[in-house]
Amino acid sequence: MPLPGLSPALPPQARSSYTDRVRVLVLFDVDGTLISTGGRAFAALREAFRQVVGVEPPTAGYSPAGKTDPQIVRELLGRLGDGHQDHGQKVAQVLAVYPPLLRQLLQPPYVRPLSGVEALVAQLARHPQVALGLLTGNLEEGAEIKLSLAGLWHLFPVGAFGSDDPDRNRLLPFAWQRAKAFYGQDFPPERTVVVGDTPADVACAKVWKARAVAVAGHTHSLATLAAAKPDAVLPSLLPELFLPVLFALSPSSRPG
Ligand SMILES: [Mg+2]
Repeated sequence: MPLPGLSPALPPQARSSYTDRVRVLVLFDVDGTLISTGGRAFAALREAFRQVVGVEPPTAGYSPAGKTDPQIVRELLGRLGDGHQDHGQKVAQVLAVYPPLLRQLLQPPYVRPLSGVEALVAQLARHPQVALGLLTGNLEEGAEIKLSLAGLWHLFPVGAFGSDDPDRNRLLPFAWQRAKAFYGQDFPPERTVVVGDTPADVACAKVWKARAVAVAGHTHSLATLAAAKPDAVLPSLLPELFLPVLFALSPSSRPG
């Protein structure tokens, strides 16, 4: 499939000749999809929990992958059982302490863009038919801290975050609303692609009938991700793997 507009060398008149409308909204998860923090981000969240709750968070056998930050704190409080019923307030307190700790613990050597990400995001950001955003369980401030250290934050003008709603399955409308405000057009589900590294990323797209691309990371294998029935499963976000999939998923023309 030809991918017009992907080459930075393409002259401006060639770009404007095939469309003046953005064709697809691509929403990326952060941890395990765009970047790795080498476990430092979860360490910061555990430290925030310790400082507020006063005990070690019960993380044995617990995976935060695919979960929103408020969900993680609530689930860890739930694991403590009786005496920690006052979840709403504690969750808010932990999440208030977390960003400064994240800033402290996270330094550039620990924040690493994953394979293909820098090249892919740079290409998508200058592609005239692509609108870029985030769909992540991170608090917005957490996403900003992590992606700024990776040099990627400025490339994502819109996003939906764990600070919008603790339920990942309710995040996509926040991204749609902000994408409409920023890009000046609606993005229907068939022209929205959610990219993430867990079955939860796939699910949060499918509940809204959006497209889902799963990318195998540290936590889930290709086979596990395929079982979640995304529209595509990739071993990495190398542009030569991702771009053909993206443009095959998004219709080449829009009515009107
Ligand atoms: Mg993830």
